[in-house]
Amino acid sequence: MAGAPIERGAVLIGAHGRIQSVGPDHVVPRPPDVTASEFPDAALLPGLINTHTHLELTGFEGLVTEAEFPSWIRSLRQIKTTRTPDEYVQAARLGLADCYASGVTTIADTGDSGAVIKVLAEAGGSGIAYQEVFGPDPAQAKESLAGLERRVQELSHLTSSRIQIGVSPHAPYTVSAALFSSVAAWSKEERLPLAVHAAESREETEFLLTGTGPFAQAWHQRNIPLPDSLDLSPMAWLSRHEVLSPLTLCIHAVQLGQADIRVLAESGAAVAHCPLSNRAHRHGTAPVAAMIAAGVRVGLGTDSVVSIGRLDLLAEARLAGEQAGLSANQQLELCTIRGALALNLEAEVGSLEPGKWADCTVIGLARTGKTPAERLVASSKADVLRTYVGGKEVYRSQ
Ligand SMILES: [Zn+2]
Repeated sequence: MAGAPIERGAVLIGAHGRIQSVGPDHVVPRPPDVTASEFPDAALLPGLINTHTHLELTGFEGLVTEAEFPSWIRSLRQIKTTRTPDEYVQAARLGLADCYASGVTTIADTGDSGAVIKVLAEAGGSGIAYQEVFGPDPAQAKESLAGLERRVQELSHLTSSRIQIGVSPHAPYTVSAALFSSVAAWSKEERLPLAVHAAESREETEFLLTGTGPFAQAWHQRNIPLPDSLDLSPMAWLSRHEVLSPLTLCIHAVQLGQADIRVLAESGAAVAHCPLSNRAHRHGTAPVAAMIAAGVRVGLGTDSVVSIGRLDLLAEARLAGEQAGLSANQQLELCTIRGALALNLEAEVGSLEPGKWADCTVIGLARTGKTPAERLVASSKADVLRTYVGGKEVYRSQ
């Protein structure tokens, strides 16, 4: 990702878990006390970066089948009440192991159980765990913010040089304007990364533009006043409430016009593009090429197993490439260095360069395709041979 592919390349991992040297095999030193692993017919590449997961939902695949998005969300929230905190931790553990098995070494995860940051900490993993907060009723905004602050405080001992905690006001149709503004202000004060599901469904746009549709009905039923400043697109609405900044990750970002793309670019906010999930929910196609051209930082995310069944970032890259006309190289960039940029982690991960963490994956090359990048994006989860995080092996294929 930092230059042309190196044939017969080698990476020397230092004792501190960072890359010490990278280049052609005959140039990279081989200290006598260091063990060597060799992978013929495979590519060694930076560990993949999944910018949007919900690993606490692992095991719920196939359980929510509603076709309409608002009822799908309701049904998911119902199922979430059936798990104990311990079960969430077990699910997150399986989810993280599955990430490693598919070559992913850094995750940006949103959830409300706190399970994922615990599992990242016990595994010595890498990522950002965004603590979710919900609350459509503006009268409860103060209380919800206080609850979020408490939760972040309780979990913050699990952070490290590789694990950050962030916040995630869920979405404009589950969080009041007052709660959005106060969470955004607090996250800026504390320099906490913020993630928000934004501009995902057409129903969300309808809700904010005209105050009608299934989300508006649900708010009416609960006697919650609709958000003020209607007549705004989701991006314009989030911008009005000062939610968008370089610390913000907008998840999905499908329903965007030209003006929304400008708002995103000017705010410095990044995007987690989830093409398989967007297709599964029939949200439409995100304007990825236009966002990249406008200078928006875009990474790739899988979203949860509830939406797509099976997490495979290379499959996301292929679909993103197909939809936006991206080359194999650009598809690989989306899974690696662009993902790192979207999460403000580019100084630490996303490419194989001396000084960065030795997060790598080894993937057997598919037979289809001419260039290494084409053969890589044509491969799949089953071709992943090894994965390392901070130089430590975290996955080995059988
Ligand atoms: Zn999501």
